[in-house]
Amino acid sequence: MQFRDLARVFDRLESTSSRLEMIDTLASLFSSADGKTARKIVYLLQGRVAAPYTGIELGIGEKLAMAAISRAYGVDISDVEREYKEKGDLGLVAEALSANKKQMTLFSQPLTVDRVYSNFYRIATASGYGSQDLKLRLLVDLLNDAEPLEARYIIRIPLGKLRLGVGDATIIEALALAVLGSRDYRPDVERAYNLCSDLGYVAELLYEKGLEGIRSMGIVVGIPIRPALAQRAQSAEEIIARLGRCAAEAKYDGFRCQIHKKGDQVWIFSRRMENMTDMFPDLIAAAKALPADTIVFEGEAIAVNENTGEFYPFQMTIQRKRKYGVSEASKEYPLYLFAFDIMYLNGETLIERPYRERRQILEGILRDRKRIQPSEKIETDSADELEAFFESCVERGLEGIVAKDLNAPYIAGARKWSWIKLKRSYRGELSDTIDVVILGYYKGRGKRSQFGLGGILVGVYDPDEDSFKTIAKVGSGFTEEQLVEMKKLLDDIAVSHRPARVSAFLEPDVWVEPRYVITVTADEITRSPNHTAGWDGSRGYALRFPRIVGWVRDDKGPEDATTVQEIIDMYKDQKHVQVSENEA
Ligand code: AMP
Repeated sequence: MQFRDLARVFDRLESTSSRLEMIDTLASLFSSADGKTARKIVYLLQGRVAAPYTGIELGIGEKLAMAAISRAYGVDISDVEREYKEKGDLGLVAEALSANKKQMTLFSQPLTVDRVYSNFYRIATASGYGSQDLKLRLLVDLLNDAEPLEARYIIRIPLGKLRLGVGDATIIEALALAVLGSRDYRPDVERAYNLCSDLGYVAELLYEKGLEGIRSMGIVVGIPIRPALAQRAQSAEEIIARLGRCAAEAKYDGFRCQIHKKGDQVWIFSRRMENMTDMFPDLIAAAKALPADTIVFEGEAIAVNENTGEFYPFQMTIQRKRKYGVSEASKEYPLYLFAFDIMYLNGETLIERPYRERRQILEGILRDRKRIQPSEKIETDSADELEAFFESCVERGLEGIVAKDLNAPYIAGARKWSWIKLKRSYRGELSDTIDVVILGYYKGRGKRSQFGLGGILVGVYDPDEDSFKTIAKVGSGFTEEQLVEMKKLLDDIAVSHRPARVSAFLEPDVWVEPRYVITVTADEITRSPNHTAGWDGSRGYALRFPRIVGWVRDDKGPEDATTVQEIIDMYKDQKHVQVSENEA
């Protein structure tokens, strides 16, 4: 496939504000591709060259991009910089210079998707002495043969600034439509994706082996599974009403680890499926010693003060997520893993088995272990007993509990009622914090205008439509430094119009690509005609007195934000509380 065809599709996607149109555009592109090319297209759409777990990340700095532009078009670096200041986008600078280029290179060859992908792959994997120079040459090589529109994307992709607003769910529906003839096959494609977290691979498999191929896909040790997620409840009664007799586990406030072991080899993946293996030598040693040839299991890692036996707060535990100074940190903050699920053991996939059985297997494997031990758990059908367990967890500094449906399978990549979290609450605030996606910012008036940012427009995620719906303007909770920092972060991902996956009535001064998730709290959830979250034709939902708590979360992507349905549930529960209080 010619890269020109892909560049034209990118250009169309950029100006589309309807998700259905995006799916159609992508589906017709996929229809004209073979499996291998489709795989590459999927990665490029995701701004990558390989699945996240491989650790192969495509990324170059602005300096390198400017040097490549300067060399390819024979212009001074200072001119490139000046143009960049003016246009604010190096992709557009390359496009304009390419259009000005008077003389085409003598042996100019039209670019193919294969060649562009291959150069990007080499850029992503180049390392060590001479690698900067190699990256530069690979980029110049592409620019030399690129038409203006192609040049725009050849620069934007490795800079991580593709900004098409295409999410995984949109790609999945387009693939289902192109290869299987209907978007209704989304769940099949999604299931395969959830098991291997590699959408490029799933695309290729779909082309080559069809529906049966993806339906028969299983777990592979060493390749992460997309994690199961929890719904939230407001009370122990609600959990018992939904699940009846259930298990409840302590909810540890650390970070999630998915551990794979095959013989002597161990991998540890994050909630976002990044490979974190090198960060946790203490957990690796403990995993190696487990009595299993092959195993895939999951748990929450938390730092423990070995003198007192107490858990360290999250701020300390998170110190362990680092690439350097690993061995010092592992002495200072030893990690313990509280395992809560098992998905695979000695060649057998366990995810279809009920929780009760999986848990029994997990406990068997972890018998008498300390570093990796099963999470604390009770089983009950009494709301009082559940409440007492919750209280005891909170008293010991834990976050709350996660209740589990005894009969449910492990549902990868989805937020279902088979796992229900109940978190500690604070008076005068919502019972839980909300993870929102930043959609744009306001420049601010008065004192705030000196920072260039007065507040942010934020939204929640609607998985059915794969879109982001606004829920609040947040201007509180920022320190002055944070305002400055936030503006820098957001300017880097600014876009010229409302992204296609964002649904909003409000217009911020600057729209941004939905990328960053930040945690907020509020006094309550109210109904409002200004916001699109949960819109029923006349009103949506909004946060009253929202304020940020914490900073941009690097463990959550935009699709991991709180969902519209969760907001509606929280609203209902809050109303329920108010009504019963009034009645009393
Ligand atoms: P949240 O991030 O608030 O949606 O809560 C879900 C997260 O709680 C999971 O992704 C895990 O990282 C964490 N967690 C802690 N303890 C448990 C447990 N016993 N079972 C399941 N998840 C747990």
